[in-house]
Amino acid sequence: MNRVLNFSAGPAALPFEVLSQAQRELLDFNGTGMSVMEQSHRGKAYETVHMRAIARLRQLMKIPDDYSVVFLQGGASMQFAQVPLNFLSAGQKAAYVVNGTWGDKAIAEAKIVAASRGAEVLLAASSKDAKGSYQSAPLQPLWSVPNEAAYVHYASNETIHGIQYGISDALPSLESRGISTICDMSSDLMWRPINVSDFSMIYAGAQKNLGPSGVTLLIAKRKFLDVGDSRIPKMLQYRTHAEADSLYNTPPTFAIYLVDLVLGWIEQQGGLEAIERLNRNKASAIYGAIEASGGFYRCPVEASQRSVMNVVVRLPDERAEEAFVAQAEQAGFVGLKGHRSAGGIRVSLYNAVTLEAAQRLAAFMTSFAASF
Ligand code: PMP
Repeated sequence: MNRVLNFSAGPAALPFEVLSQAQRELLDFNGTGMSVMEQSHRGKAYETVHMRAIARLRQLMKIPDDYSVVFLQGGASMQFAQVPLNFLSAGQKAAYVVNGTWGDKAIAEAKIVAASRGAEVLLAASSKDAKGSYQSAPLQPLWSVPNEAAYVHYASNETIHGIQYGISDALPSLESRGISTICDMSSDLMWRPINVSDFSMIYAGAQKNLGPSGVTLLIAKRKFLDVGDSRIPKMLQYRTHAEADSLYNTPPTFAIYLVDLVLGWIEQQGGLEAIERLNRNKASAIYGAIEASGGFYRCPVEASQRSVMNVVVRLPDERAEEAFVAQAEQAGFVGLKGHRSAGGIRVSLYNAVTLEAAQRLAAFMTSFAASF
């Protein structure tokens, strides 16, 4: 077996120990004589996994008791529609901060919902530059959000552009102004401790720091879920899933099982404080290689907002970038090509990427620059 060093943006690397355990348990889960995939979602064996995953999330993230933890399907993209369907009623306004592709997609979906029911979507702030790209995120004091807004929505880490809020300060929140703050943390959740009560709702697709694709995590204040629209189909109402402990219908059981294993692995690493230290060291190794390259490598992102999870790197030209990706692949580093809309190189450093892998890539970057 020859496992590569995987720097993909998601689906992304999973901890080796987790994959090994899943392999060991695949055919006979816990002496039940069948796979966890084959168990009824109403049976004891699966229920134990399901409830343990929720309990681990609560404990690792210090989620307050008045918050629900919910597993959904449809990816984070489904949330772009489900959020306004639940919380943007006729006559109301919602505000969106756009600092990249994902914010752009979220506001576009909200506008469709708003138009269909006589609501309004406001652009609270955008950092789109003249070329239609993004190199920074609008700082919270620049957000324009009226007090009567039903909610404000933003993505805390823009996976494609490598722009992250809260690198050296707290994540933005307007909760203290009484404005419900909703955050897409798909590529941000679970690499560091955060203050959950700064948000009315957080959501994240699992396929970065939490597990495989196919399950979306939602953490939301119960009181906030209560105000959600009850005239939309039941499956789309958050309360349906919150009230049923995410067992209203068949959940993605195997994905949730893997999430549970990943959470157990995070516990073993020492929890979120320990994981954060490691992640920051990984990011320092890559940003350090960029800075030491004398301009060969360049990170276009505003220095104070450079993402710890997704490092975007530009080389002198596209030819150099193509050569880098090809040679890196030969050397066992994969998943480094930037998003097709942004170009360049992108190094994703989610939890399962080891410090050693990041250091080895940094060394490769240095030798590539010297030889190019
Ligand atoms: N938001 C962010 C910040 C993302 O990075 C992604 C996926 N990369 C999405 C939303 C969309 O997620 P999904 O593909 O699970 O719908």
